[in-house]
Amino acid sequence: MADEANKHEFRAEVRKVLNILTNSLYTNREIFLRELISNASDALDKLRFRSNRGETPIHNDLPLDIHIKVDKDKKILTISDTGVGMTDTELAENLGTIAHSGSENFLADFANEHQAEEAKDASNIIGRFGVGFYSVFMVADEVRVTSRPAFGEQATAYVWVSDGLGTYTLETTTAEEPKRGTSIEVHLKSTAEEFAHPFKIREIIQKHSAFIPFPIYVDDEQANTQPALWREPKSSVTQEQYQNFYKAMTFDSEDALSVQHIAVDVPVQFAALLFIPSRKQDIYGLDQDNWGLDLYSRRVLIQRKNRDVVPDFLGFMKGVVDVEDLPLNISRETLQENVLLQKIKQVIIKQTLGVLEKMCKDEPQNYEKFWEEHGRIFKLGYHDMTNHERISALFRFNSSSLPDGENGKILWTSLDEYMGRAKPGQKTFWFVQAQNREAARLNPHVEMFKKKGLEVFYFLDPIDEFALGQGGTYKDWNFKSVDTAEPDDLKDFPDVETEKTEDAATPLSDEDNAIFDAFVKYIKRELGDKVKEVRVSERLADSPAVFVSDKGISSNMEKFMKVMQKDDSVPVRDMEVNRDHALLRHMFSIFKADKEDSTLKEMVDSLYDYCLLLDGYVREPYLLADRIQNLLTKASTWYKTVRNLA
Ligand code: ADP
Ligand code: MG
Repeated sequence: MADEANKHEFRAEVRKVLNILTNSLYTNREIFLRELISNASDALDKLRFRSNRGETPIHNDLPLDIHIKVDKDKKILTISDTGVGMTDTELAENLGTIAHSGSENFLADFANEHQAEEAKDASNIIGRFGVGFYSVFMVADEVRVTSRPAFGEQATAYVWVSDGLGTYTLETTTAEEPKRGTSIEVHLKSTAEEFAHPFKIREIIQKHSAFIPFPIYVDDEQANTQPALWREPKSSVTQEQYQNFYKAMTFDSEDALSVQHIAVDVPVQFAALLFIPSRKQDIYGLDQDNWGLDLYSRRVLIQRKNRDVVPDFLGFMKGVVDVEDLPLNISRETLQENVLLQKIKQVIIKQTLGVLEKMCKDEPQNYEKFWEEHGRIFKLGYHDMTNHERISALFRFNSSSLPDGENGKILWTSLDEYMGRAKPGQKTFWFVQAQNREAARLNPHVEMFKKKGLEVFYFLDPIDEFALGQGGTYKDWNFKSVDTAEPDDLKDFPDVETEKTEDAATPLSDEDNAIFDAFVKYIKRELGDKVKEVRVSERLADSPAVFVSDKGISSNMEKFMKVMQKDDSVPVRDMEVNRDHALLRHMFSIFKADKEDSTLKEMVDSLYDYCLLLDGYVREPYLLADRIQNLLTKASTWYKTVRNLA
């Protein structure tokens, strides 16, 4: 037993932290082992560093490793390393005061934290205060640290002992072990006996310390066998090793689509191993909980799925980032503000864009696969202003210029390719948001563009219009929805020759034109408040009628806003009718003969339904159904008569 002279008080702040650690934490206690192992690894690193610079440690033949012994009966864990060790002064300084990484405000924070319920998560607290070594008191009621310095004058070993309650003792020891370095005896509390099992210890090592660069033996069997591939020189790693690493890490059965091994020194020293999976991992591609890269500090895991080093639009990437100069005890809050991580993120963005650009050029089929699997997430990159142009250049869409793909496959084209095909003077990417190609093609607003031979992007993913349509630009071209186009917008582009001139309607006489105006007024009167205005269209070719936006926003956007405002009314829009369409001509003839004709009224009503349906709205489905069957009954009666059928 140590006499009074050897007994020391912990600093006040240490006592408080110890108090909380020993009394109020019970989840995630296993991280004490991560802390002790990383300290051991640091000590070995320091020894290696000094040896490399010419100093000779005692027992120079001892291997650099970590041994963990589990005494099941006595409930004692012993973690030994052959690293630099500590002198008596260092033991007192390093283990008697709060760790250097603790934040200055920690006392203030601590006071608040003390009240908080969430204080129960050990990693949270440890992270916030930087209490690395002290975390051992979550599981121990006595800790004996025996240390023999590897360099210097002091030949004897010292032993530091504490129950974590307020005092520690420090005295010399005649023990032979450790021959060099530090040995930590952890006397487990009765509530922490789960840690007195080698398999449990191995499991924790696998989880938190799998990539420590020194062998860790648990009862003489090595527990960490995975090399930290990202720390190896690129030339020494094979593609197969990379892919195996990827599969072990993600449980994916397929190879990754691309592998990136980054090792940079400037502006931040870090290594990363990044993978683009061949398949998206979740259906919507926007799974907010399941993305990020595993963040390491010199091979010790700091945080899984860290999102500070990778932007959301690269959220499909898997991998690890290992930073040289990041304190292990860094808190989540500090992580977010960490400028190192911001810089790493920028490097990762730039490099990944480079990888994708190269894939576009050299492996277009892989790029297509990438786009089909991850394009949806990648499109979130529209809000990265720094890399706007590079990101946009990687976007792909379907378009009116592309043929149908085989078996319904969607083909892709880029913004630059669109520009290459554009008409002289064109400065707008025209798009139509639609559910599929067929719907896009049948959209009446597209007709005017077809007439002029202008290409229209088919936005087939609901996110497209949000990503680009809203004031988006690329190389000072803007994006516009076709249904916000005014015929005036296209006046500089002449009509192109179209094949079908035969069934084109003959122009109306001046007199009929005047009567047609009256017919248009009649339609408006019949429809009443359901439409704002009815007019003759200049944009339609093949469709009889269409609703037109007067707010400069696309009908798709408008629909979205109505959903947001929980407004389920049908919109009141302007209606345009196609004077040259057969249906309108027929209705016009009826109108000229009998303005009170009841069938004509039904037709006007159905024409309105037709426009509504095109916009994706249905007004009173049973009435609509009734009108359809009414008209069909009439039509079939007339058809029978025409065909002289019985
Ligand atoms: P940190 O590792 O962030 O510095 P810790 O509380 O984990 O904080 O450790 C405090 C200090 O104690 C370390 O910086 C190191 O100087 C010393 N130390 C802890 N464990 C060992 C060890 N096994 N060998 C040598 N020194 C150690
Ligand atoms: Mg530490």
